[in-house]
Amino acid sequence: MAGYHRGVIDLHTHSTFSDGSETPATLARMAQEVGLRAIALTDHDTTASHDEMQVACDAHGIELIPGTEISLIDHDFPRRDRDGQVGGRGVHVLAYFLPLDPASPMQQVLARLRQDRLQRNQALVTMLQNLGFERLTFAVLEGLARNADSIGRPHFAEAMFSLHPEIVGERTPETWSRVFVEWLGSDGRAYLPKTELTLEEVVAAAAGSGTVFSMAHPLLNYLGDYTADRIERDMPTIIRSLKDRGFAGIEAYYGGTSQPIRDLMVKLTRDAGMIPTGGSDFHGTFKKDVALGRGHSGDLVVPDHVLDELRDASARSAD
Ligand code: AMP
Ligand code: ZN
Ligand code: FE
Ligand code: FE
Repeated sequence: MAGYHRGVIDLHTHSTFSDGSETPATLARMAQEVGLRAIALTDHDTTASHDEMQVACDAHGIELIPGTEISLIDHDFPRRDRDGQVGGRGVHVLAYFLPLDPASPMQQVLARLRQDRLQRNQALVTMLQNLGFERLTFAVLEGLARNADSIGRPHFAEAMFSLHPEIVGERTPETWSRVFVEWLGSDGRAYLPKTELTLEEVVAAAAGSGTVFSMAHPLLNYLGDYTADRIERDMPTIIRSLKDRGFAGIEAYYGGTSQPIRDLMVKLTRDAGMIPTGGSDFHGTFKKDVALGRGHSGDLVVPDHVLDELRDASARSAD
């Protein structure tokens, strides 16, 4: 395929098992079409898609890496909320090569996170109803997602557009973003954190299991608005701190950033002696402007040697 070569991977994707619109079977087929050698499904708080995805990937000759994306709290880099209160920072963390045995401490962590998500979802329905989204019910959301504990904010956004266009307008890429800015995003009027669980607690739970952690979209988590100058000033301290707290990787090749910013993030990650991981954060129709493997701008290339490095790190961290 033009502009594409063997050895390209995507380590950040979502399926119908969380808030992606495509099934594992469709994702595996699309991965083959865009020429990916390996893929990780990183559904939020779950590895439930793994078995179905393994069958599909085997059929297409694509390597599958077990993965998940979880929301955790970082108390070392607090943030100020829209009311001026300072508190722990909500961040997204990618975990790879995690154990699939339900009895393992890592899977127990995921079960707890799914429970926290369920409670957040119920509280968020009530909050939105009180803010005028009266027709938005839990039953409507359950109709959009696979399970009650796989409902995410994109499902909320979808329900807000279909039930309350008089508040949020017709769905377009612009209004979709605005719903997150005004309502569902971390500075929005209807933001509720999902969990109190910290980075440190989850890294401890993974000890000896071969799980490797990479900080997802670090610029979104830690800087919000950014310039190259701000990245060079602030990110080295953050990256170093994550390394000290047991992280192996930083998602330096992120589909939502430009190539010069990716180059800078790869350099800072290497300077810290860490692995630059990468992915598109594909969600299908829930993020219409993101292409599998290629990201927002279509020029994302995640080289497969980072997967070899992750595998080595996993082997070193297994008992
Ligand atoms: P949740 O797991 O329910 O907290 O929802 C997180 C998901 O919401 C992310 O994975 C994205 O798919 C989506 N999301 C969060 N912030 C935004 C945003 N500003 N614009 C679009 N989608 C967003
Ligand atoms: Zn998502
Ligand atoms: Fe994320
Ligand atoms: Fe994601």
